[in-house]
Amino acid sequence: MTGPVYAKMAVIGCGLIGSSVIHAARAAGAVGEVSVADASAAVRERIAALGFADQVTGDAAEAVRGADLVVLAVPVMAMAEAAREAAPALKPGATITDVGSVKAAVGEALAKALPESCFVVPGHPIAGTEQSGPDAGFAELFQNRWVILTPQPRTDTPYQDAVERLTEFWTALGSNVELMDDRHHDLVLAVTSHLPHLIAYNIVGTAADLEGVTRGEVMKYSAGGFRDFTRIAASDPTMWRDVFLSNKDAVLEVLGRFTEDLQALSRAIRWGEGDKLFDLFSRTREIRRGIIAAGQESAEPNFGRDHRPPGET
Ligand code: NAP
Repeated sequence: MTGPVYAKMAVIGCGLIGSSVIHAARAAGAVGEVSVADASAAVRERIAALGFADQVTGDAAEAVRGADLVVLAVPVMAMAEAAREAAPALKPGATITDVGSVKAAVGEALAKALPESCFVVPGHPIAGTEQSGPDAGFAELFQNRWVILTPQPRTDTPYQDAVERLTEFWTALGSNVELMDDRHHDLVLAVTSHLPHLIAYNIVGTAADLEGVTRGEVMKYSAGGFRDFTRIAASDPTMWRDVFLSNKDAVLEVLGRFTEDLQALSRAIRWGEGDKLFDLFSRTREIRRGIIAAGQESAEPNFGRDHRPPGET
């Protein structure tokens, strides 16, 4: 890379992911100037104090003026509004991307809200933590993580060039980039991320409500497996509410399948079918080993900071 991939980047919504994009892009030298818009006055104050942006404002249109890359990093259901606010000030030929965890609904909303003179390339970094806010961001978050881009069905050369440039940007931040159909993304993530979060929210809720087991006992003996669920279930409530409401069809489809499999497990326990249990647990152990072999085990990278290891969202 000879110079920055983008001379000016605007980030709309600067919490965990938005601030991590800025830290990572600056560390890689992938951007020149950085402007930020955030709806929250408290967040803007924090960003100004942390000093990682050249400009901080509450007005998305002001932030995107002159930007070559705009990254929308607000909760999924706020994407359309953020895009509408930015639209009048966008530079023709700018690339607009997002980091939302759901892609079909966001892609549609962005296509509707943004002018055709810009290149809309939705995206999703498969990296995150259960933390929120601008203090939680760090430059290494995207290292060796996948970023899925779900380009629009456009075959013109300028659009293809914009996709290629965005790929170059994420690669500079340490990510591996894959292009995917947005509906397929939503189904894959329903299995690998959305359902696991739903299960975690549910099991922590069940334990909290269980009569006959005290809250003290739940905390004291949490190392028996429960503790790992509590980390996931501490994830941002706004973000996850939006994910489930925006990816309803895929989540319900996967949840139906999951419920059937759970019923089968419960039958195997009831009827003492140890072989069935043993076979399943052996297969799942292999899946875990495959994840480690693929370098996607979250506990291994040492980020050298006071962060829990990133999970996937
Ligand atoms: P976050 O830490 O809560 O940050 C979001 C920020 O956006 C907040 O400061 C929020 O302000 C602000 N905001 C909300 N609506 C806005 C608007 N219309 N205009 C400007 N700013 C607005 O959230 P995050 O975890 O970074 O998540 C951001 C996006 O990344 C979500 O779409 C999520 O699906 C996706 N994502 C998250 C993860 C993860 O692990 N967290 C991983 C991959 C992708 P208020 O607090 O005042 O609302």
